[in-house]
Amino acid sequence: MVHEEKFFDDQLVLVRMVLGLAQTNTYILGDLKTNSALLIDPAWDGEVIFKEIEKRGWQIQEIALTHAHFDHIGGIAALLKASSSSIPIGMHPADEFIRASGGGAAVYGFTNFDPGPEPSIAYEQGMQIRLGEHRIEVCHTPGHSPGHVIFNLQDAGLVFCGDIIFQRSIGRTDFPGGSTQAIFASIRQEILSLPDETRLLPGHGPETTVGEERRLNPFLTGEFLL
Ligand SMILES: [Zn+2]
Ligand SMILES: [Zn+2]
Repeated sequence: MVHEEKFFDDQLVLVRMVLGLAQTNTYILGDLKTNSALLIDPAWDGEVIFKEIEKRGWQIQEIALTHAHFDHIGGIAALLKASSSSIPIGMHPADEFIRASGGGAAVYGFTNFDPGPEPSIAYEQGMQIRLGEHRIEVCHTPGHSPGHVIFNLQDAGLVFCGDIIFQRSIGRTDFPGGSTQAIFASIRQEILSLPDETRLLPGHGPETTVGEERRLNPFLTGEFLL
């Protein structure tokens, strides 16, 4: 399933693909002025993702990882093979121990999982990713994993929030390096501080908004946020 929408006089294109056994959302942001694309969480089926980008005539500027769980990085190795060029990969270094050990794939029975090469860009709080004229801010949001980050495309009121918050749910904190206290702090500081109309594009499931989750998310009531 491929879903597509356009912003800024149709100059910026967002493509969403749902891939792999965890039905992970892979997002491709393409800038039609420069034909460059930011690829967020190449979840699975790297060749399929590559073809989707190639048929639009885009060059992948950077692979941007919200975190290193296998269901978000499982497409990298095949995508790089298909593209036959080197593409920079960005990730927060605190997730490297997860990535290097296969992103937790072995727990789900994937013994030959290939996480791809080591990321070359170390994300940190406040870093800006440039895509044509646009800026995407990186925010460090530990809790689901220690190096989890979200990507904020402020111009469009869009946040790619990975696995920290979902429609009416939040991310698990029982994986290695997870922390319940940290995920609530991250949600409070980096999600609930945003305007209500901000769209949240999560790593799994349908999109939602900050306002909807503020009102309706059962995990975000009273005591959890203190
Ligand atoms: Zn995850
Ligand atoms: Zn996930």
